[in-house]
Amino acid sequence: MRCIISIVLFLSTTAVILAQQSPIHIEISSSIDTSNSEISQVIRLLESYLNSKPDSLYLNPYWVESEQHQYKPYDLVANTWWSVSQYAWLSHCKINILSVSKFADTFVIRTMFYNSPPKDSGKVSVIIIFQTGARLENGSYKLCNVLPINTRFWKKEQVGSIKYIFPPDHQFNRVLAERMNRFIDSLAAAWQTPVAPVEYYFADDLDRVAKALGFDYYAAEGNIRGPGGYTDVANRIIYAGGSDEWYPHEFVHIYINPLFPNAHHYFLEGYATLVGGSSGHDLSWHLRRNYEYLHVHPEVNVLTFKGVDLHVYAQYFIGGLLCKMAEEQGGIPMIRKLMTYGKEDEDLYRAIQDIFGIDKEHVNDFLRKKLAEYATK
Ligand SMILES: [Zn+2]
Repeated sequence: MRCIISIVLFLSTTAVILAQQSPIHIEISSSIDTSNSEISQVIRLLESYLNSKPDSLYLNPYWVESEQHQYKPYDLVANTWWSVSQYAWLSHCKINILSVSKFADTFVIRTMFYNSPPKDSGKVSVIIIFQTGARLENGSYKLCNVLPINTRFWKKEQVGSIKYIFPPDHQFNRVLAERMNRFIDSLAAAWQTPVAPVEYYFADDLDRVAKALGFDYYAAEGNIRGPGGYTDVANRIIYAGGSDEWYPHEFVHIYINPLFPNAHHYFLEGYATLVGGSSGHDLSWHLRRNYEYLHVHPEVNVLTFKGVDLHVYAQYFIGGLLCKMAEEQGGIPMIRKLMTYGKEDEDLYRAIQDIFGIDKEHVNDFLRKKLAEYATK
């Protein structure tokens, strides 16, 4: 999984729980016509929803029921790209409804989460602007995802288990799509896991996919980057930009991550990079590229290196190197073993000690030696 937005929320669980107990108030932009009863209804609906523990999984009375059965978590924009639900911010920010627009029989609400300093300096820090839909269900408005609304004119193609959803200006490449489908069949066979449907949203630009999902503004929007994406493993949805019908890395996550819920992320990312590449390049490319930097920077700890390329951290190429060496040692059974040690740093060191016989003090030297060996092969 390639988290485009690496935002860590420094929130304590206690703070979030306390926040959920006090009412969430929203501001409404003065330009919104609240004299319109439907607009007024959907704004109140959103406020009720924000006060209903929206990051908890239960049958929420404010959201259309069919989506709650289809997706878990069902609020897609809130649960994509964040390490926790975006509603963890609720108690730490101000909330402003910027607009409510009507498209056919559906409303789209644009909401901004922001902060302003205690002493008003005029500075406003926008955290996110996102869209939420609202449509009638059994005579009353309920909230819904905007993804189906924003992609209603996108093309859809089914190839094997993959449902491709992409902008209408894209010329579908069936040859690549079939290659992707064969990759999945062989991956699933190798890991003895069943093939299951996946929704794959992709466009030439990740921001375009983010907008379709409902991110009107998000941190790091607009940055020039290589191919990237995010996998919603629970809902079996992939969002990708700068890529095409062939994007094996995220599909590896869809199939492998659920098999190993306690695996260290170095091995999950590493294996995805080993068999699916990352940012449009294969593992060998990343090994060579990072080796060029690291061999003239002996002071850097390889295991925690941020990487030469934006968003391609050590877990991708060092994780990939560890998986490659393990695979050469014992094939998929050895990779399977790597995935069982646990999520913590100590688990990573324990796995390296067990599989490669290297103690913690010598891991950096070992990895530098192996990196040099594999980068110059
Ligand atoms: Zn990944």
